[in-house]
Amino acid sequence: MQEDGSGDNLKIRFRRTSIKRRKLCPKCLGDLEIASPFGGWLIPQEYKCKACGYHGPIALEIND
Ligand SMILES: [Zn+2]
Repeated sequence: MQEDGSGDNLKIRFRRTSIKRRKLCPKCLGDLEIASPFGGWLIPQEYKCKACGYHGPIALEIND
């Protein structure tokens, strides 16, 4: 693997990190979906919960 500090490398690493962490709904502890594909980059990340309809920037993070 090459590490030349390019922007693409950083982007890939960030994405892998976010996939590994589970995001849980603060209301019902259900699995959250990412509401906006651009969240966390230009605007705050937002999540939505299929179970209870929660929609907002708060998510409980669980490592692994
Ligand atoms: Zn929920």
